[in-house]
Amino acid sequence: MSNSCPDLVEVGPRDGLQGIGPFVPTAQKIALIEGLSAAGLRRIEIGSFASPRALPQLADIREVFLAARAIPGLDLQVLVPNEKYGLLALESGVDFLAFVISVSAAHSRSNVRRTPEEVVEEYERLVVAAGPGTRIRLNIATAFDCPFDGRVSQAAVLALLDRLVPVRPDVEICLCDTTGRGVPDQVEALFRTAIARFPQVIDWGVHTHDTYGLGLANAWAACDAGASVIDSAVAGLGGCPFAPGATGNVATEDVVWMLERMGYRTGVALDRLLQSARAAAGLAGACSGGRVRYAIGG
Ligand code: ZN
Repeated sequence: MSNSCPDLVEVGPRDGLQGIGPFVPTAQKIALIEGLSAAGLRRIEIGSFASPRALPQLADIREVFLAARAIPGLDLQVLVPNEKYGLLALESGVDFLAFVISVSAAHSRSNVRRTPEEVVEEYERLVVAAGPGTRIRLNIATAFDCPFDGRVSQAAVLALLDRLVPVRPDVEICLCDTTGRGVPDQVEALFRTAIARFPQVIDWGVHTHDTYGLGLANAWAACDAGASVIDSAVAGLGGCPFAPGATGNVATEDVVWMLERMGYRTGVALDRLLQSARAAAGLAGACSGGRVRYAIGG
């Protein structure tokens, strides 16, 4: 990997909150984003344009988006599960879309009730609608393991990328360990192979879950293989409601602590971040994780 610090994408306000049952008031969501920004996190996935029936927790996305857009210097991305909500996000002025597609047909069916091929076709149409001025990130879900089918082969991921990359090469691609059952040698091997095969892709990100305590190890394995972007959620919030057992994204404060300890300058003030992490962990219904919050008292 290069000597520059990996970019951090805080996904707590979306991935972290979406599975929480009790509705988190809009003002609290905005306060969380403001706190994370004040701690030095420059890029935040603030929510998802999605069916309010499927994800009632994120039904206030428009208000959250407008408030987050007013925060100076914040690079905000919004997740969209399909073409319909992608178009809605574009209409609302979003200029950085994160689009999700599963390698696994079973997970795709469960998550968005479509086959991966149907989702690829939606993605192709959305890219045309978005135009070159919109930044796009592709989240490749179940890139290592599927909650229904188990371990996912490298060949299956590469075959999907063969379809997706030519649609628009100047995107960021994030390989996601949706269940947290990926292991470092597997993560490293897939990133090395994919980066060598698709040199035209601008940036590669890694999205890990700490279900088995391997969130940090897997994130670093990806960076070692050339990934330059790490997803994490404050207080280790998260878990995919459509992936049974996938609890907890790797905690942002753990990632920051690790990188700083390795000599990187993340630009994040850990003490400020820990304040946000404690507040996030205290949200009603929150399922938190991570270690650094406990290791550093206060
Ligand atoms: Zn996640």
